[in-house]
Amino acid sequence: MSEKIKNITSKEFEEEVLKSGNVVVDFYSTECPPCEALASKFESLSEVYGEDIKFIKIFRQENKELAVSLGVSGSPTLLFFKNGEMVGQRLSGGIKRADIVKNLELLISKERAETLKNSLKKSETNCDVLILGGGPAGLTSGIYSAQAKLNTIIVDKDLPGGQVKVTHMVWNYPGYEEPISGYMLMHNMTEQAKATGVNFRSAVDITWIDLVNKSVEIDGVETIRAKKIIIATGSSPRKLGVKGELEYKGQGISYCATCDAKFYEGKHVVVIGGGNSAIEEALFITKFASKVTIVHQFDKLQANKVAQEKAFANPKIEFIFEHEPREFVKNGSVVNEVLVEDLRTHEYKTINCDGVFIFAGMMPNLDDFDNRLTLDKWGYVNVDANMKTNIDDVFAIGDVAGKQFRQITTAVADGTVAAITISKELE
Ligand SMILES: Cc1cc2nc3c(=O)[nH]c(=O)nc-3n(C[C@H](O)[C@H](O)[C@H](O)COP(=O)(O)OP(=O)(O)OC[C@H]3O[C@@H](n4cnc5c(N)ncnc54)[C@H](O)[C@@H]3O)c2cc1C
Repeated sequence: MSEKIKNITSKEFEEEVLKSGNVVVDFYSTECPPCEALASKFESLSEVYGEDIKFIKIFRQENKELAVSLGVSGSPTLLFFKNGEMVGQRLSGGIKRADIVKNLELLISKERAETLKNSLKKSETNCDVLILGGGPAGLTSGIYSAQAKLNTIIVDKDLPGGQVKVTHMVWNYPGYEEPISGYMLMHNMTEQAKATGVNFRSAVDITWIDLVNKSVEIDGVETIRAKKIIIATGSSPRKLGVKGELEYKGQGISYCATCDAKFYEGKHVVVIGGGNSAIEEALFITKFASKVTIVHQFDKLQANKVAQEKAFANPKIEFIFEHEPREFVKNGSVVNEVLVEDLRTHEYKTINCDGVFIFAGMMPNLDDFDNRLTLDKWGYVNVDANMKTNIDDVFAIGDVAGKQFRQITTAVADGTVAAITISKELE
């Protein structure tokens, strides 16, 4: 640990924090992946700001009373103090370097902040394989690659685990007789990757990506150069931008029927959308739900004819055409009302329900890449059988790659193929 960081206990808090000028305090725990992700950022920032700001660490488990009195309920939590007063934003979870810097700069003058920024030394790291994205696809590639003794780095904008780490239960991943929580499955995969020797850069900002020259800059401070790059950035559900949608994700708002339909046995579910996935998923949901109301913005469905015929013939499904959701309302523990607008009359009405599934399509996570990658007509990365893209030594795997089925098993399969191909090529 840097000499600029001091580990204290609650007994020293008054003297070291409240009676000092500028202080940043890191409440950390052991066996805490986001704490590990923060540690290297805290360390490198202490080297830059350490003359002006005290960097303090407090082990939360052994200083519980102090943590509770400061409202610290999770690890890591960063608190910023100026002359004994808490200032700025309280940061917790997967903390980004840029957010720490923003708050550190509140403690010092603008001029000093500028000087320190200019004094920042950039670093360079070389590796064999650089994997962008630490979901199931990226982690699997990492495990195979590190086991082949290739120097491997996984960079993720968030904490590793991808979409699955926020999935309540996974029922279809082989090897688990009982369903496993998405969080635990991804925790296990991440720990396995670490144990095989994969290096991680988690909760980072991507400054730029140069696929042609196989280099990536993160957090504005570190350039990573690689022999091979694997894009494993996954996809995200297209959002509607409706009030309540993001707030209640996981509390009655879902984007995955395979994962969540079983929780709606005998319940009334609203499905938003009228394309293939909406109708096919609605049909799947009727295996569990007693009633499915499909709300669609157009006057007819866009799904293929076979799916449409099945849906129209299904007595559990009702349709509300030419309506759009305007708000999702949660009165109890889950969303139980959808406010919809009639697009012809502009009148509003409320649909009472037990949950909502939104199928407005998925989007590949490619915002950080330039337009040199060849994409398929749906915007996913074109790959060959070995997961190679059109750019030399650049691979794409998992949900971000063009394919028919996007599941954990297909993501890990892609990751395997890419890593074995790479290890053979680098032999
Ligand atoms: C709610 C839900 C439940 C699901 N349940 C199941 C299920 O039960 N069973 C099943 O088989 N499948 C399930 N799926 C599908 C499954 O999650 C995906 O197919 C799988 O996660 C794809 O893995 P991936 O590694 O390709 O991408 P992701 O899991 O999406 O991981 C991508 C990672 O890349 C990171 N990232 C994004 N952009 C960048 C960037 N520019 N640079 C660096 N990192 C970046 C993200 O932070 C993320 O960690 C579910 C999906 C959802 C949304």
